[in-house]
Amino acid sequence: MSPEFTVRASSHTYPVIIEPGCRHKLYEKINHSYSQYFIITDTNVSPLYLEEVKRSFKKTAVVYTIPAGEGSKSLEQFEKICSFALDHGIDRNSVIIALGGGVVGDIAGFSAASYMRGIDFIQVPTTLLAHDSSVGGKTGINLPGGKNMIGAFHAPKAVMFDPEVFHTLPEREWRSGLAEVIKHGLIYDYSLYSWVCENVSARQVPDTSKLVYLLERSVKVKRAIVESDEKEKGIRAFLNFGHTLGHAIEAEAGYGLWTHGEAVAMGMAFALKVSEEVFQTSLDSGKIINQLEQLGYHTSLPENMNTDRLIDRMKRDKKGINGQIRFVLLEAPERPKLVSVEEGMLRNLIQIGGV
Ligand code: NAD
Ligand code: ZN
Repeated sequence: MSPEFTVRASSHTYPVIIEPGCRHKLYEKINHSYSQYFIITDTNVSPLYLEEVKRSFKKTAVVYTIPAGEGSKSLEQFEKICSFALDHGIDRNSVIIALGGGVVGDIAGFSAASYMRGIDFIQVPTTLLAHDSSVGGKTGINLPGGKNMIGAFHAPKAVMFDPEVFHTLPEREWRSGLAEVIKHGLIYDYSLYSWVCENVSARQVPDTSKLVYLLERSVKVKRAIVESDEKEKGIRAFLNFGHTLGHAIEAEAGYGLWTHGEAVAMGMAFALKVSEEVFQTSLDSGKIINQLEQLGYHTSLPENMNTDRLIDRMKRDKKGINGQIRFVLLEAPERPKLVSVEEGMLRNLIQIGGV
C-alpha cells in the first residue's frame, strides 16, 4: 500500500505521496503544463539518484547541484541558483523540484518563494529528517550570524517520498532524522513513539515496508501540527521540544561533531529531567531516557561542556523572552507545555551531567 493524503496550507492543499520506487516515475505524478522543470539537488544525492529521476521526465529538466551540507544554505548559493535559473530560461510557469534532504528542500523552497516573486516547487525528500522539513511550508537560508534567519512560508505543490532512497543514508543521518520522529511521538502521538521503540533502531535503516509506515505516521503528526498552526503562533512552538539545549550543544561542540538529531536527543533527555523537576508529576523520564539509549542515542551531556556558555546560548534561543529561558516540557507524553525555567535549576542539572 502506498499512502497518499493531503496537507492544507492557507494558499492551497497539496498531496503527500509515499511510494517505493516513485523516483522512477515522478513525471507521471506531476502537472505537465509547466514550461520547465528545474531540479535542485546536492553533490551526494546527485550521483545516487539524479539520473533515475531525470530519465522519468519526458521534457528535459534543468539541473543545479549545490555542495552537500548546511554551508549551502547561504545567500551566495541562493544568488547562484537564481542567476542560473534566469540564464536557463526558468520562468513563472516553471517548477522547482527539490531532490535531497532538508538543506536542498530549504534553499530550493526559498528560491521558489522568491524567484520572480514566487514559482511552484515540489519536494522530493531523500532523508528521514526531511519528513519534518518538507511539510509545513517553511523555507529558508542561513546568515553567518544565525540559522534560518532569512526565509519565507511557501508551501510546496506536492511532496513525494520514495522510501527506497533511505537505504543509502549514512547511519548518522538516519539517527538524526529518527530523533525528530521520536520528538513528534513524545509531544503528539505516544503510540508512534512506542511503535518506534519496538520496531526500529537508530543504528540501522529498517526495511522499506517499515519505512513507509514510519513516514506516514510521522508526516501525519507534522501535518496535524502545522495545519492547526501554520504560522507558528501557538502549538507549532512545541516542535522545539529538545531543541533549546540541543541547539546549544550543537553550537558549543562545533557544528558537525554531533548531528542535529543526536544533539536533539540529548536535549530531549534533558528536557524530560527538567519536566520531572518542574511538574513533580509521575512522568517516568528515566524509562524514556533508557528507551532512547536502547534505540542508540547518547543521552547525557557531552563532556567538557561549559555551563555558562550553554546557559548563555539558551538565553538567546528564539523562543526566549526578555532573557528568560523557555523550555518545551512534558507534563506527560502528548502533553507539551512552553514554560520559563529558573536558571538555577538548569545549572544544577547541567552540572550533574544532564541526566
Ligand atoms: P541534509 O540535507 O544536509 O542531508 C544530510 C546528508 O545526507 C547530506 O550530506 C546529504 O547530501 C545526504 N543525503 C541526503 N539524502 C541521501 C540519501 N538518500 N542517501 C545518501 N545520502 C543522502 O540534511 P537534513 O538532515 O536532511 O536536513 C537538515 C536541514 O533541514 C537543516 O538545514 C534544517 O534547518 C532544515 N530543517 C528545516 C525544517 C523546515 O521546516 N523547513 C524543519 C527541520 C529541519
Ligand atoms: Zn530539529
